[in-house]
Amino acid sequence: MDGLKHMNIPEMFGSMVFNENVMKERLPKDIYKALKKTIDESRALDPAVANVVANAMKDWAVSKGATHYTHWFQPMTGITAEKHDSFISPTEGGNVIMEFSGKELIKGEPDASSFPSGGIRSTFEARGYTAWDPTSYAFIKDGTLCIPTAFCSYSGEILDKKTPLLRSMDAISKQALRILRLFGNKDAKRVNTTVGPEQEYFLVDKQYYDERPDLQYTGRTLFGAMPPKGQEMEDHYFGTIKPRVSAYMKELDEELWKLGILAKTKHNEVAPAQHELAPIFTTTNIATDHNQLTMEMMKKVAGRHGLVCLLHEKPFDGVNGSGKHNNWSVSTDTGENLLEPGSSPRENAQFLLFLAAVIKAVDEYQDLLRISVANAGNDHRLGANEAPPAIVSMYVGDELEAVLKAIETGAVYKDRVKEKMEIGVCALPPIPKDTSDRNRTSPFAFTGNKFEFRMLGSSFSIACTNIMINTAVAEELRQFADELEDAADFNDALNALIKRVIKDHKRIIFNGNGYDDSWVKEAEKRGLMNLKSTPDAMPHYTDAKNIELFKRHDIYTEAELNSREEILLEEYYKTINIEALTMADMARKQIIPAVISYTKELADAAMAKKALGIQADLVEVSIIEKLSALNASLAAKLDKLEQALKEAAGKEGAQDLANYYHDVVFAAMNELRVPADELEMLTAEKYWPFPTYGKLLYGV
Ligand code: ADP
Ligand code: MG
Repeated sequence: MDGLKHMNIPEMFGSMVFNENVMKERLPKDIYKALKKTIDESRALDPAVANVVANAMKDWAVSKGATHYTHWFQPMTGITAEKHDSFISPTEGGNVIMEFSGKELIKGEPDASSFPSGGIRSTFEARGYTAWDPTSYAFIKDGTLCIPTAFCSYSGEILDKKTPLLRSMDAISKQALRILRLFGNKDAKRVNTTVGPEQEYFLVDKQYYDERPDLQYTGRTLFGAMPPKGQEMEDHYFGTIKPRVSAYMKELDEELWKLGILAKTKHNEVAPAQHELAPIFTTTNIATDHNQLTMEMMKKVAGRHGLVCLLHEKPFDGVNGSGKHNNWSVSTDTGENLLEPGSSPRENAQFLLFLAAVIKAVDEYQDLLRISVANAGNDHRLGANEAPPAIVSMYVGDELEAVLKAIETGAVYKDRVKEKMEIGVCALPPIPKDTSDRNRTSPFAFTGNKFEFRMLGSSFSIACTNIMINTAVAEELRQFADELEDAADFNDALNALIKRVIKDHKRIIFNGNGYDDSWVKEAEKRGLMNLKSTPDAMPHYTDAKNIELFKRHDIYTEAELNSREEILLEEYYKTINIEALTMADMARKQIIPAVISYTKELADAAMAKKALGIQADLVEVSIIEKLSALNASLAAKLDKLEQALKEAAGKEGAQDLANYYHDVVFAAMNELRVPADELEMLTAEKYWPFPTYGKLLYGV
């Protein structure tokens, strides 16, 4: 072990990133200034500037050993895509030079006809183009210069997750600036949303993984009895990190630091073999790029340690699944966090207005938040006893709730302020950031100066969730600004507005235990949505109010929304189809034959005993009877599942297919699993065809 070997982390950090320091060093002053302005104000890049930047970028990349470049983009598959081109350009005499032009930097043209488009491109051109997002730095990965880009079709339809995210950031910036001007802020030029995504994952031994077709094809176990020990002792959470895992985490940190990713916190999670990594927050589009890279690196580095990193939301039944917490805030380019309550009455008033915007946004667009976390994997978590329920609600803490109540009713806010809460006049009591009294069961919790959205699944891109939050909050700020800009008396109007919003939207605030059954009933009484599954949630994507929202803020057209809904529904039933086929295959080709082999051994043993004249109390016979009954039940349920899959072939339409896969196929899968897991408990270990949960969860 050379754990103490000197490592210069500040020098290593960002060494593979074409960041501001590198730009400053390698670009002429005027070009650097022009680029910096582009970045700071999220503008389009001037082509003359692009040529110089491209050349400097290429020289830098080549000096780091890069030979290729790629426009690195985020299609609707949820992962990233790249097509590598080398820098070589032929010269006379059969030689090459390394070249990279401004045109190539700004725009790429992948033949993108095989990416999901939800029907958009059958009616338009098949080709798409990618455009550099200069606010996210270029970086080198595996000898390739990666340029973070947005991806569109030639007729302008967006085909990726970055374009709408950037648009939603512009939308919220525009509306938040209107509000800030009303509070007398003349300095801020841009308002950015910031995100710190906490990422959960599992690590399993590669050797065991390779023996499980379910993990290989679907990322989760489709069979598996609980081992004698699960997570009931809660001894894994924050426990000592095993040496092999520790070595993995150390290398992962280093790889992420080289890419300029602010990997900060790492620890063991609740389930055995489960871990978490959290970065320091940054601007939302960069946080999104970084989270994609983090997930990619988690998988890659695992391979070097004989491990496999599972990012599925529910790799194991019976132990916690993995989520991703989206910590979100809004701040100005001058460094003011708009969700920080502050201490003066003016700061407090501004804070309360932004808080009101978030409350109204979450209430009115519950469905969009739910949709942004809907997939087949996360359906296993939401509503189960480990994750926030499928109902979206907000937690603001006792202090703020009391303040909101005092504002709403005009009552005296007891204990701390011995006077009426008058916005713009009174100061708020201190709002604690202490982690101890935070409500861990709330899907959308205020944590002192940011909101933590906890419904995201571990495998998701964080783009969609942030598109929803940014756009919904932008819309509320727009309405607020319209109202307040026209007001005769700003303070009076502000008081009235906040009071009204609290009154109209307080139903979304719930400080109690979100895991409690009584909450489901209470939420129903309040009229909150409970969209239990992906097929339940998805059709709301194109509800009239949502089409209106996205159109108004230039995020999506109606055609784009339809296409997104369709892509997500398709992804849902295709996922279940693959799972069902894998399950059927494992049951038919592995489990049934294994049970038969073991039964034969038992039968042989019983026969041998009988030949010796031992007749009474044959333990073999009683096991054979149980095995035979269960195997027969398994075979019958397998037939049922295969029949269900056959019938799916006759169905059409993404929504109908999704409903069918949820109601029929998925139900048949759950039934099939029951006898299989019982058989595992009865079958001798050497006959069981795959590594057990015990090995997977404790094998590292
Ligand atoms: P935990 O939720 O585990 O108690 P913290 O509250 O310390 O942890 O932080 C969780 C995440 O929130 C971190 O990634 C952190 O960088 C991020 N975070 C902190 N402040 C902000 C902010 N203003 N905007 C967005 N994310 C933030
Ligand atoms: Mg957290």
